[in-house]
Amino acid sequence: MVKKKIVVVGGGFGGVSAVDALSANPEFEIHLVDRRNFHLFQPLLYQIAMAGLSPSDIAIPLRTLFRKKRNVHITLAEVDQLDIANNKIHYDKNWVEFDYLVLCCGAKHAYFGNEKWEEFAPGLKNLEQAIEIRRRILMAFELAEKETDPIIRSKELTFVVVGGGPTGVELAGAIAEMAKHTLANDYHNADLAKIKVMLVEAGPCILAAFPQSLSLTAQKNLKELGVEVIINTRASDLSKDGLQIGDQYVPAKTIIWAAGVLPSSLTMQIPGEKDRLGRALVLPDLSLPEFKNVFVIGDQAACKSKSGEFLPGIAPVAMQQGAFLKDVIVSDMLGRARPTFEYVDKGIMATIGRSKAVVSTKGFNFSGLPAWLAWVFIHLIYLMKFKNRLFVFLQWAWSYFTFGRGARLITHKTWRFYDGEKIKLE
Ligand SMILES: Cc1cc2nc3c(=O)[nH]c(=O)nc-3n(C[C@H](O)[C@H](O)[C@H](O)COP(=O)(O)OP(=O)(O)OC[C@H]3O[C@@H](n4cnc5c(N)ncnc54)[C@H](O)[C@@H]3O)c2cc1C
Repeated sequence: MVKKKIVVVGGGFGGVSAVDALSANPEFEIHLVDRRNFHLFQPLLYQIAMAGLSPSDIAIPLRTLFRKKRNVHITLAEVDQLDIANNKIHYDKNWVEFDYLVLCCGAKHAYFGNEKWEEFAPGLKNLEQAIEIRRRILMAFELAEKETDPIIRSKELTFVVVGGGPTGVELAGAIAEMAKHTLANDYHNADLAKIKVMLVEAGPCILAAFPQSLSLTAQKNLKELGVEVIINTRASDLSKDGLQIGDQYVPAKTIIWAAGVLPSSLTMQIPGEKDRLGRALVLPDLSLPEFKNVFVIGDQAACKSKSGEFLPGIAPVAMQQGAFLKDVIVSDMLGRARPTFEYVDKGIMATIGRSKAVVSTKGFNFSGLPAWLAWVFIHLIYLMKFKNRLFVFLQWAWSYFTFGRGARLITHKTWRFYDGEKIKLE
């Protein structure tokens, strides 16, 4: 029996789910290629940035995940070229052929043509960025502690998060909470009561994907934590010393970028139409219109729901799409018509701080402690594959009761990561 060779590029939510489903069929030979050797639980990245968890708590080696699957072969490499017309992809100076290709390389931050801002305002997409944000936040407190000039100290203690989506809200809430509770007694000179946390959103509300009532609740919760929420205002002219917010200049040492995403650079090499975000348009079976054996899923794909709206770039979409591909390829082998992907929307949630979250599920909206408990529960369920989920849970419980943040390590920056490229710093 000649096995079908399925190459999956990207071991994120979409890729892992696809390999999981496909590997159950012994007629498939699966090659998973990722530039990292681990699968990352991105929804908890902000906990790394905020020193609540350590990197290994939310990352698991791909080889560990598929250790028992004899038909899964893992390659650590960055795919740099696609030759879809000839059924080939390129990495490590080699062209590799496939019968089927699954592209699920995820997304990166969009600086809307101002890529140099990344130096002043890192985004939060990978572990390196999370550790860098942690370093900047913790360093700001250290510098404020030894600063004698009140003007400079105020700049050290000003934190600006740009982008009022779930990641921006989580970060802004967590910074304010950390200063107010966790660090309040640790710094004796820097007056942490004077900390300024700003969340800047260009649109008319934060958490725009949520019902208006939850968006307003989140805004109120942030205000209670001491976060200044600025809506209908664009951040511009970023530098290492501050940024322009509308017509106001804000001196700030720490700026974090959580505004806008673009699909991974490899998407530009995918033939065919793209949506306005640059994602590859796929058919209802998730294949490319001209290439039935090439699928694009997750954050790289522009896939329409039954009602004709584009699906959002969130983990459940990528996971459901990955699992669905098995049915498509099996249908091909049996000579049957391909099924159509239908997303099962279980709702959306975002956490704002300790005991504060918002949840919208099937027309049912709630907030506060019940929403926060739901958020913790769901994230623990999704951490199922991570062997240390009990440990993560215990750490959360510990932090909850003690306000502790155990991973407060300042590590030195020796390089930066931009769009897959590692750039060494002096
Ligand atoms: C900070 C943050 C918080 C989030 N919070 C939530 C949340 O609470 N709920 C939610 O549902 N979603 C959340 N998301 C979104 C969610 O993580 C994504 O929608 C999901 O990860 C998309 O899955 P994917 O498989 O498309 O891509 P990813 O999971 O990003 O995986 C892409 C993989 O491709 C690899 N890769 C990329 N390019 C190449 C290449 N050229 N060659 C080889 N490998 C490559 C990467 O290393 C990575 O492993 C969050 C995202 C972030 C960044």
